[in-house]
Amino acid sequence: MRIAIVGGGLSGLAVCYHLLSKDRTLKIELFEKEGIGSGASGAAAGLLHPYTGSLAQLNWGSKDAIAATIQLLNAAAHAIGKSTYKKSGIVRCAINLEDQKSFSKIVQTQDDVSLWDPDHTYNQTGIYRPALFIPGGLSVYTDLYLKGIWILCAHYGAKLVSQTFILNDSAHFDKVILACGADIANLYPSLNLVLKRGEILICEKKLIYGIIGNGYLSLTDQSNICYLGTTSRKDLKYITLDEATNLIRYQIDPWVKMDIKVLGYKSGIRVYRSLDSYYPIIDQLDSKTWCFTGLGSRGLMYHAYLGYILAKAILQQSSNLIPRPFKISNKTVI
Ligand SMILES: Cc1cc2nc3c(=O)[nH]c(=O)nc-3n(C[C@H](O)[C@H](O)[C@H](O)COP(=O)(O)OP(=O)(O)OC[C@H]3O[C@@H](n4cnc5c(N)ncnc54)[C@H](O)[C@@H]3O)c2cc1C
Repeated sequence: MRIAIVGGGLSGLAVCYHLLSKDRTLKIELFEKEGIGSGASGAAAGLLHPYTGSLAQLNWGSKDAIAATIQLLNAAAHAIGKSTYKKSGIVRCAINLEDQKSFSKIVQTQDDVSLWDPDHTYNQTGIYRPALFIPGGLSVYTDLYLKGIWILCAHYGAKLVSQTFILNDSAHFDKVILACGADIANLYPSLNLVLKRGEILICEKKLIYGIIGNGYLSLTDQSNICYLGTTSRKDLKYITLDEATNLIRYQIDPWVKMDIKVLGYKSGIRVYRSLDSYYPIIDQLDSKTWCFTGLGSRGLMYHAYLGYILAKAILQQSSNLIPRPFKISNKTVI
């Protein structure tokens, strides 16, 4: 079977890996117009934990999904000969009373998190806030991870096609998987996806934990470099380093009183199913075409798990294998 995968980000690489893990005879061409990891995936800060969202509720299927990600992270680490993540722990600082109430409730039902009082958070992070501590939270080195996964896909026989895929190219393939991040909104406008641009600053600073509050700080594979981000803009406008620095510092300064030297930045577009649902989308668009999109800010959490399910659904020609929350809503007309 000849398969085109459009996009070399988290979603495209995950489905490529799982397809080839199930069947090495597949002829897969991975179209990537700008290089592996050049979309949102290359700009991801690398924070991975199951208590995302404004109220830090445990996300649907998150434990299985994160286990699937860790399996791929380890496979990629083996391929590249370097660690692709660190179990750093993540500190979610409370910004307001609502956060504090929500964190207090969560520790009553979940045994993998604990509450920190402001003094303890300050001693550990330099930030004086009550916090939810997630010891199992990971800092993923996304660049290394994407490289490692691509090495495995290429080893299993996938070919990289460094050009833009257009829908007419579908004629040459038995199956087409659109895992092309924000560009799917142009190819299939009827999906009515919500797009938001975000930036992360690359900064000189040592961190022990990933930290989330009114913005976030994350570790990288270099011990003296971290990422700092807050932005999420519907205008999608590309901004300069100075503009990104001002925007992020303005939002984060009242919260993080730290001296941080900015070295550069990365920018990418997150894709959401809608403003009120965080479920990504995997589904069949027509007899030949499947889509994998809407990972929003939970790309690291869901890509490996959904890549596995999508690969199975495609090989068994059955979209019924896709759990309902991840299917295109019935209201969406294609
Ligand atoms: C600033 C920022 C910080 C983030 N931080 C985190 C985080 O800490 N944790 C987390 O879990 N998630 C985070 N995310 C979200 C995460 O990055 C995304 O959910 C995920 O990367 C989406 O992956 P994707 O493969 O669907 O899309 P993308 O990574 O955008 O990949 C799509 C690829 O398709 C290619 N492409 C598009 N159209 C075509 C075409 N026609 N032909 C050929 N190639 C094409 C593009 O060049 C691109 O490389 C962050 C996102 C941003 C922007």
